[in-house]
Amino acid sequence: MKDKRLYSFLHRQIPVFIVLSLVPGLGYLLLGWLNEVLMPAIVWYLLIIATSIWGVRIYRNFDFNTMSEQRRDRWYQQCTWFMYAFFLLWVLIFLLYVRQDSTNLHYIAIFTEIGASVVASTLLASDRRLYRPTILLLMIPLIIYFFLVGEWYGYILTAFACTLTWVLIYAANSTNQLLMQANYQATHDALTGLHNRQYFIDHFQKRMNTLKERGEFAFLLLIDLDHFKTVNDSLGHDVGDQLLGIVVTRLRQQVPESCVVARLGGDEFIISGSSFAERADCERVALDISGQLILKLKESYVVDQHHIHISASIGVSIISGRDANHNANSFMKEADIAMYEVKAKGRDGVFMFNEELSQRVERHLEIERLLHFALANDEITLHYQPQLNHEGRIIGAETLARWVSPTLGTVPPAQFIPIAEQTGLIVELGTHILETSFKTLREWRDGGIEIEQFSINISMRQLTHYNFVPLVEEMVQRHLDEALSRKLMFEVTESIVAEDIDRVILIMNRLKESNIRFSMDDFGTGYSSLSNLNRLPLDEIKIDRAFIDALTHQDGDRAMVTTILKMASILKLSIVAEGVETEAQLEFLKQHDCPIFQGYYYSQPLPKDQFVAYYRSWQSSGASVAVFS
Ligand code: C2E
Ligand code: CA
Ligand code: CA
Repeated sequence: MKDKRLYSFLHRQIPVFIVLSLVPGLGYLLLGWLNEVLMPAIVWYLLIIATSIWGVRIYRNFDFNTMSEQRRDRWYQQCTWFMYAFFLLWVLIFLLYVRQDSTNLHYIAIFTEIGASVVASTLLASDRRLYRPTILLLMIPLIIYFFLVGEWYGYILTAFACTLTWVLIYAANSTNQLLMQANYQATHDALTGLHNRQYFIDHFQKRMNTLKERGEFAFLLLIDLDHFKTVNDSLGHDVGDQLLGIVVTRLRQQVPESCVVARLGGDEFIISGSSFAERADCERVALDISGQLILKLKESYVVDQHHIHISASIGVSIISGRDANHNANSFMKEADIAMYEVKAKGRDGVFMFNEELSQRVERHLEIERLLHFALANDEITLHYQPQLNHEGRIIGAETLARWVSPTLGTVPPAQFIPIAEQTGLIVELGTHILETSFKTLREWRDGGIEIEQFSINISMRQLTHYNFVPLVEEMVQRHLDEALSRKLMFEVTESIVAEDIDRVILIMNRLKESNIRFSMDDFGTGYSSLSNLNRLPLDEIKIDRAFIDALTHQDGDRAMVTTILKMASILKLSIVAEGVETEAQLEFLKQHDCPIFQGYYYSQPLPKDQFVAYYRSWQSSGASVAVFS
């Protein structure tokens, strides 16, 4: 039971033993003086002082968190010898005093021996290797002493002393068992019998210290089962628990003996592997084991007649003993980040933490932190990209968010919008974007800029926010009139079909009462089925840029574009081709009756005043195609 608690327990006993020896020891000095055995008593007391000094050094040398496995073992050995030495000294004083003539001394010596045995059986109960020899060491001389009395009461006392020895060992055994049990529960997971998080963190800290001492490498694998929650939810927790049991059996079979496997909680497991002198070897073995685990965990499971298929995502972190800046926690975090990378890439795989990911995560965190201030400091502005029709008339604009951060520079929306969505800040950010857009729309109309549609991107999290509909209604009321509200086009993405589609339809219909129209953005990239598409109250679809981009070179994509165009006309939906960059693309789209175009061919998204200038130049050039970039 050599865990942190045992070490700390023994560590705490050292000063107790020192005080228990130094203070009563003075009494023995006095007794020695009174009974003319002063010299041996002084020698004995000097030995007690010397052992105490040794004890103080052992006490000071202890720092659980920075000690390597070897140092901890050495420390434990020393501590054990220190305890033996102390009790041996008490045996010595016993032997010294029982050899004297004074009966008083005998009484005191006998009491000392019994007292020391009781102390040993209580204070050393944490380790059998400590209390058993010590109790025997103390009690056997006493038993022999009683026996040698040679009188009937001596034999009775011998029997009593033997019984007491047995009782003391029995009591210590029972305490020890309880301690072991409590320790097992504190360091193991009740369901799977694997080590738990607490144990793993202690163990891993120890490993780290050893690796640092030797400058070696080791790996850490963080395993998370994919879709385990679905099993729990659909088949019940009993089945889930049994499934975990089988997973653990497979983990144990697959992982080499030298690795430590622990359950961090739920369906998350962690493995720390053996040490390597070279990083490359460590990486290779880590990937080998992970690969085998992935395959093994993917084999089908039979629980209560259910055939279950699950996979796992494994994050790998290489622990370097040469890296002074990292600690146990940061390596575990790396494995965690790597595991989330697998999840983000579609699960069922392995990813090894690397510098590129580290930088990405750092930037992600930085964006997350600064995004909060960006809104307050008015760093988020809007650009507007013109939409033109067949005749080259500017009929609309799409609002696109821009963030120029004083610390990070220009952050593209493709980076900060997803982060705003994850953190929920999109609700606040989206409100700001809506409000600014509404004001622009009104300003433009007042300034004589007549467009037919004004598109605003709406995130799913924003759309489904409980307050979204009333908020939009209120803003429409405040900033727009009916004619202007008819120009609004909310762009949503195909991810809405992954949501509760009935609720989404309800929300869209409510907004339609405020004259708002809807466009399906990035059409063709998601997984929405035609039937879903048909159920949504859409007005427009936007063919994704990727298809337009591929028009120039891939026949397959041409067919895709023409199919989408045909489908839109059957469903009576308007259609916008976005990302139009070349004349060839434009010509192709025009030939196939695409009505609206947006892209760099005409213009990039422009700041408000530049959009106005672009519009005016188009107006003054006789309202024909204006190419501007
Ligand atoms: P999106 O809605 O598909 O926006 C179109 C993106 O394509 C814009 O990128 C635009 O600048 C870019 N683009 C337009 N024409 C061309 C072209 O001809 N060639 C190329 N290569 N690109 C073109 P941007 O502004 O970086 O926005 C990226 C994405 O960020 C948007 O994709 C949208 O999903 C999101 N986003 C931007 N602003 C907002 C916003 O205000 N709210 C929300 N919810 N999302 C936004
Ligand atoms: Ca869009
Ligand atoms: Ca788009």
